[in-house]
Amino acid sequence: MSTFKAMVIEKADSGTKAALADFDEANLMDGDVTVRVEYSTVNYKDGLALTGKAPVVRRFPMIAGIDFAGTVESSNHPDWKAGDKVILNGWGTGETHLGAFAEKSRVKGDWLVRLPATMSTREAMAIGTAGFTAMLCVMALEKHGLTPASGPIAVTGAAGGVGSVAVSILSKLGFSVSAVTGRPAEADYLKGLGASEIVERAALTGPVKPLAKERWAGGVDSVGSTTLANLLSMIRYGGAVAACGLASGMDLPGSVAPFILRGVCLLGIDSVMCPLPKRQEAWKRLENDLDRQKLAAMTREIGLSDLPQAAADIVAGQIRGRVVVKIG
Ligand code: NDP
Repeated sequence: MSTFKAMVIEKADSGTKAALADFDEANLMDGDVTVRVEYSTVNYKDGLALTGKAPVVRRFPMIAGIDFAGTVESSNHPDWKAGDKVILNGWGTGETHLGAFAEKSRVKGDWLVRLPATMSTREAMAIGTAGFTAMLCVMALEKHGLTPASGPIAVTGAAGGVGSVAVSILSKLGFSVSAVTGRPAEADYLKGLGASEIVERAALTGPVKPLAKERWAGGVDSVGSTTLANLLSMIRYGGAVAACGLASGMDLPGSVAPFILRGVCLLGIDSVMCPLPKRQEAWKRLENDLDRQKLAAMTREIGLSDLPQAAADIVAGQIRGRVVVKIG
């Protein structure tokens, strides 16, 4: 029997239980590419899966982890051969398909993206699903027509993973960025990433007016709920908000006033089923439009055994920036 180390979630008497285990390679799921995983990362969804706080996992036992970067070990897929460096994020990995917190993963070759030439597998996972999603948000705002000349952009949940990468990318592209955070102690960190202004979270958590004073040309929101509703009410005529998250809640307690009186657009962002051409474009953009020194400054590294604590921390909103997981 050939086994490898993996963080496995099992059903328990009440809820679920996550623990490091030796996983039998024979029990890997179908796929045409087997990858030696080098790095993964801790995303909010991983936190929900490992703590059992939300029903993210749809099959048991499940190896947790929604994204990885590594080296192809063997392949029956025409696009991939042994030795290729690859990235995977989403497609149900860590939810319905055995996931990334493991020394080995077997997946569909159609899910993989080639690691950009100048990027290491560690950098790819410092970016991870959170950073990839931040890039999708920025691309959506650009497609809407926003440029630095349009006006400032608000980034909510700014000290978190999506937020930190969004602040960095937008500032590198020349946008003026307002970082909205509940952690004013992180002001220097956020300014270091390129934020031109720090806005206290409380400015967007009060009662939602149909229309508030026009403040931002656009927004990147990973928080949802009252924060997103307030943000929409503060967007300038013709602007847009790219919404990708629910760190505060899934509801949206606002009105249609910003849409019908200011022509504001709400742009929905999903990373999981994002089509391959858009993924390839986003990773190419991340290679060029994200400052690697800023990426390094927002990243810390842990091992597989540190995952339960990191999972609890991210669900509690206590993680700053990004956490990479060194596998093996
Ligand atoms: P993080 O935990 O790293 O960041 C979330 C941030 O939101 C926190 O750091 C905090 O920022 C803020 N926050 C947390 N709780 C609250 C609250 N109750 N009210 C207001 N603000 C709060 O998570 P990620 O950045 O990795 O993910 C953010 C969200 O995006 C998650 O909901 C995640 O599921 C979603 N997501 C969606 C994807 C998609 O495909 N649509 C892909 C990736 C992520 P601060 O302290 O600065 O205020």
